[in-house]
Amino acid sequence: MDQEETRPKVFIVDDETVSIDVLATLLRPDYRVVSAKSGEAALARLDSHALPDLILLDVVMPGMNGYQVCEQLKNSVRTRDIPVIFITSSIAEEDETQGFSVGAVDYIGKPFRPAIVLARVRTHVELKKRGDMLERLAILDGLTSIPNRRRFDQFMEYEWSRSLRYAHPFSLLLMDIDFFKLYNDHYGHAQGDACLRLVAEAISRSMPRTVDLAARYGGEEFACVLPATHEAGATAVAERILQAVRGLQIPHAHSKVADHVTVSIGVASMVPTLQRQPLDLITRADQALYKAKRSGRNRLASLDYDGAA
Ligand code: GH3
Ligand code: MG
Ligand code: MG
Repeated sequence: MDQEETRPKVFIVDDETVSIDVLATLLRPDYRVVSAKSGEAALARLDSHALPDLILLDVVMPGMNGYQVCEQLKNSVRTRDIPVIFITSSIAEEDETQGFSVGAVDYIGKPFRPAIVLARVRTHVELKKRGDMLERLAILDGLTSIPNRRRFDQFMEYEWSRSLRYAHPFSLLLMDIDFFKLYNDHYGHAQGDACLRLVAEAISRSMPRTVDLAARYGGEEFACVLPATHEAGATAVAERILQAVRGLQIPHAHSKVADHVTVSIGVASMVPTLQRQPLDLITRADQALYKAKRSGRNRLASLDYDGAA
């Protein structure tokens, strides 16, 4: 990637061309700079373009003023995390307070000192980057680096409501490593952790569709959420996962079903309705997993349509 693409992007919104030019000249060595000359134009651009890392927003503009623009940005899930700094000549204390109350992160008075503008922009771009990183970490499992239970819960809720709207089938796989307690007891906890990492990786590799999610569900249990997928499709994914984990050929001297590590998988599918909850699908997948365990492990299972095991 060339430098042009990796530099943070700053969006300047000001009705005066001179202000835009001065700020742009100042920022251009370190940032990609885009601009708009009104609040309306700014919102339209944000709607249809890749989002900037920071917005420098003039307060006094004909049409929408900066506070109104900021309020709209903070009301939209898409734009609410972009830091906004007001740049303005109205420096009364009430104005500053209003700026912060609509969600701005900082305030710079005109005429501005270039060094101050650069320092504040740098600070807030950096803070945003760290915030994004923390957010990513908060949804990843520390051991396996795949999405964690928290992310699984969020994703299930979100995709469930989408499937409900479009009346799409929705599938879930729950899987559990076979005789993993015996594996830990024999090979030790550190080796157990290494095994979990390899299995997580094999599961993720078996799911190439970007709309699907593989997560660590609990200790040695994993889950795959497959939106817009019917049971036949989900079963095919489960088959691939069974093969991928067997293919790792991780020795398991104490497994009662193979000489290597294997998993059991419960497959469940349903078309969401208003009477059903994500938990209903999880329960079915869990029952199917139990069925796979009972009928010999190292296999997949699903329930009959009426829910009988
Ligand atoms: P089954 O085939 O019926 O699933 O038997 P199992 O032994 O796999 O099931 P059980 O639930 O009895 O044991 C799960 C084991 O997983 C117990 C625990 O020591 C181990 N485990 C859970 N989380 C971790 C972890 O983060 N690291 C390691 N190393 N082991 C874990
Ligand atoms: Mg278990
Ligand atoms: Mg187990």
